Amino acid sequence: MKLLEDYILKYGTVLSDGVLKVDAFLNHAIDPKLMKEIGNSFAETFQDEKITKIVTLESSGIAPALMTSLAMDCELVFARKRKSLTMVDHMYTANVYSFTKQQNSEISISKEFINEHDNVLIIDDFLANGQAALGLIDIVKQGNASIAGIGIVIEKSFQPGREKLLENGYRVESLARIASLENNKVTFVNENSKTVSQ
Ligand code: 5GP
Repeated sequence: MKLLEDYILKYGTVLSDGVLKVDAFLNHAIDPKLMKEIGNSFAETFQDEKITKIVTLESSGIAPALMTSLAMDCELVFARKRKSLTMVDHMYTANVYSFTKQQNSEISISKEFINEHDNVLIIDDFLANGQAALGLIDIVKQGNASIAGIGIVIEKSFQPGREKLLENGYRVESLARIASLENNKVTFVNENSKTVSQ
């Protein structure tokens, strides 16, 4: 998605060879116009899949997932990372090792919000090692729902997440695919390297 690549180049910061900071439009401040385009793009890509529900992970997955659910006219639920006082027993849970926080956390979705009639599209902001996506897949499967695919805003293709998901038979569609972050440069898959400001 050209617009997203332009945003990454203009507003992104390479923090290390493995981490891209995009707080200016996705992970902290949120650009609504970009989110709208992201939602439209996922909706177009998955238009033939008869999606009934988008499943994502708080907090950074919510904005792109919400715009996708609006564009697809389907439901949306996000997995929580912290247990709320109103959440008691009736939860599907999975353990996820966080790439950015380097710690395990339990994510959960109420059983009320996933069932065997759902055909789910999983959306997340980044794909690195695939742990977040695999945790969401685990939860959706506990609810006996089908999984139509996984939509990723920014995929770091030099990390193993995409292969893991493909090996498990899932469709993976990423709007921006990064081949490398070496030398403070963002190189997109199949493109020449482009420099990002520090
Ligand atoms: P994975 O579970 O695939 O290893 O990592 C994906 C999750 O880690 C995403 O939900 C995202 O929040 C976070 N993440 C992974 N890599 C990056 C990165 O380079 N930048 C940012 N901002 N978040 C990342």
